[in-house]
Amino acid sequence: MIGERPETRALEALDTDACIKLAQDLVRVPSVTGNERAAQDLVALVLEEAGLEVDRFEAKGERSLILNGHVDVVPLGDRQAWHASPWSAHIQAGRMYGRGACDMKSGLAVGISAAAALKKSGLPLRGRLIVQSVVGEEDGGIGTFAMAERGYRADAAYVLEPTRLRLIPAQAGALTFRLRISGRSAHASVRYEGVSAIEKFELVEGRLRQLERSLNQQDHPLFRDYPIAYALNIGRIRSGSWSSTVPDELECEGRVGVPVGMASAEVRRQFAAALTDAAQRDGWLREHPPQLEWYGGQFDAVEVDPDLPAFAALRAAHTQEFDVPPELVGAPYGSDMRLLVHEAETPAILYGPGDIRQAHAADEWIAVNEIVQAARVVTAAAARYLAA
Ligand SMILES: [Zn+2]
Repeated sequence: MIGERPETRALEALDTDACIKLAQDLVRVPSVTGNERAAQDLVALVLEEAGLEVDRFEAKGERSLILNGHVDVVPLGDRQAWHASPWSAHIQAGRMYGRGACDMKSGLAVGISAAAALKKSGLPLRGRLIVQSVVGEEDGGIGTFAMAERGYRADAAYVLEPTRLRLIPAQAGALTFRLRISGRSAHASVRYEGVSAIEKFELVEGRLRQLERSLNQQDHPLFRDYPIAYALNIGRIRSGSWSSTVPDELECEGRVGVPVGMASAEVRRQFAAALTDAAQRDGWLREHPPQLEWYGGQFDAVEVDPDLPAFAALRAAHTQEFDVPPELVGAPYGSDMRLLVHEAETPAILYGPGDIRQAHAADEWIAVNEIVQAARVVTAAAARYLAA
């Protein structure tokens, strides 16, 4: 009908008799605070009959568990270093090869399989099991952040990152930085008239090594086995334009670890102070201080109580599978764990198949039997924790 106003059409569809009847029906279902279930059952039924979508979840009382995994993988690196296609996922001598096999498509498969098993088992659950398949973990965790923003919360979360089936309740943070150091160009034959940005970088780098040593003075029982628990790595350097020119600029990118128990802001403060200190010791750098920028992944350190019921269930399931309890360790790398804890108020641990050493390497692989073991443990743990 041309010209019909939307409100006219909506009002024609409104059934006020049904509205009164629904109000009566709702009044007839007692729902004193704390005992609202029957009323909510009726509301859900009416909404569904009207063709509306219903999202039922428990605000209190019952249990909930998140299984989290990321689908993004890191770049291939040197393609020539791979012995087969990085996307082949071929299995050879008990190992599955491919970018993401270890970090962490196998872990994600474990989470999905455990959820499917619980569904198929028909076990009544006293709460919700939520599988989160997220993007963007390797560059800061936009996916898990978005899950938190969307309101997904639970009593606990298992982040199924490669931990060699060890349980990780504490995690160092990691902050990505970019540094710009300037020099003054000159022809190589009179290089003493220029200032090499590369030589100035060496001074800065030496001071940053001191910072790394100082950050690693922090003692934590779960991190004692690491030669360097909180590593500072320069991962990329770009400098100079010509072999016979003194380089007048250098840009580098790196990451610095955040000790468990230390705020990221404190690490940033110490980093900036180290740069200032390095600059004070050099005439050129004092006049041309290095420019610092924090960008990309900014992971806070995080620690949770490994005795929470959902984690006790995981430890019990692991113990049942292997006859020994899982090892508890700290992780020296960042992950979405801290987003679950800080943004979604959901205590999270890392537990999953695969060795982090394989994670970003050429010929990345995972032991197939470890995938099976992880699937069994996570399924049993979710059943222990959630089954009514
Ligand atoms: Zn990962």
